Amino acid sequence: RAGQSDDPAILFFSEEMNQRAKEHLRIESELRDALANGELMLYYQPKVSLRSGRIVGAEALLRWRHPVRGLVSPGVFIPVAEETGLITELGNWVVEEACRQIQQWREANVIMPPIAVNLSARQFDRGLPQRMAQALERYGVNPEQLMLEITESLLVRGAETVIAIMNELVAMGLALALDDFGTGYSSLAYLKKFPISTLKIDRAFVVGLPHEENDCAIARAIVTMGQQLRQEIVAEGVETMEQMDFLRGLGCDQLQGYLFSQPVPAADFERMLREGKRLAFTGR
Ligand code: C2E
Ligand code: MG
Ligand code: MG
Ligand code: MG
Repeated sequence: RAGQSDDPAILFFSEEMNQRAKEHLRIESELRDALANGELMLYYQPKVSLRSGRIVGAEALLRWRHPVRGLVSPGVFIPVAEETGLITELGNWVVEEACRQIQQWREANVIMPPIAVNLSARQFDRGLPQRMAQALERYGVNPEQLMLEITESLLVRGAETVIAIMNELVAMGLALALDDFGTGYSSLAYLKKFPISTLKIDRAFVVGLPHEENDCAIARAIVTMGQQLRQEIVAEGVETMEQMDFLRGLGCDQLQGYLFSQPVPAADFERMLREGKRLAFTGR
């Protein structure tokens, strides 16, 4: 067996795998408790218009307040949840919690832009439209208040069924955004088959703007493509004024990133809205 090999490389490798498997199991069981114990919460990151500087949307991002480990990032537990199937329950919780929060903001007379939730490809089944409808109804939420962010991996999976489900969601009034765009393989011809109203340029291509030639070319191609398909373009992970200026020059519609705000708890996001926080432009 590998674990008993004399080759130190093999020994190390198998122990590392063993460690990973243990870590994985631990996260899975703790995540189940987290759901039951109310350790999960949503943070909100504003999306701002590159024309007006105003907040025109937000993305709800899952956070786990672990009693011992503190705030655990979704990069750690979402992949585990995806593998174990726990993502379905987690995803349902996210939709419920976003709807509950939207209802609470409405009752407090906060004027809200649409809030986007991330959906895993595994949540995307025939039952999704009905689950969405139930959550919206339970909290009396107008479907225009909610957006769904999906990833390219979904588009390559059984296109016809996926398109049918998407059409159902769109018919209900829910808008669809394609997240992390550019990391998959969607061509213009392919993309136009899907009822997607927003493209989000992945942070990987924003980070090198405006100095990396390849990133500039990719960002430009995505904006051009989106404009031809009449989609809104959101740039993710915008951290600098230079990046913002470059994206505005391309005709990108919105930005989301630390330049304007990190993801924040609901109360902080509400305060930004009430205070009318705006993006400061550089003169260009
Ligand atoms: P994403 O959907 O692409 O979300 C954007 C990620 O970029 C977030 O990471 C956000 O905090 C981060 N980000 C935003 N602006 C900046 C910036 O200027 N600089 C840098 N360095 N990072 C920035 P986060 O919250 O850690 O989430 C990571 C990923 O986990 C998300 O990527 C999404 O794929 C997944 N995720 C988060 N919440 C959920 C959820 O409720 N359901 C599902 N299925 N996935 C989720
Ligand atoms: Mg997202
Ligand atoms: Mg994204
Ligand atoms: Mg991303």
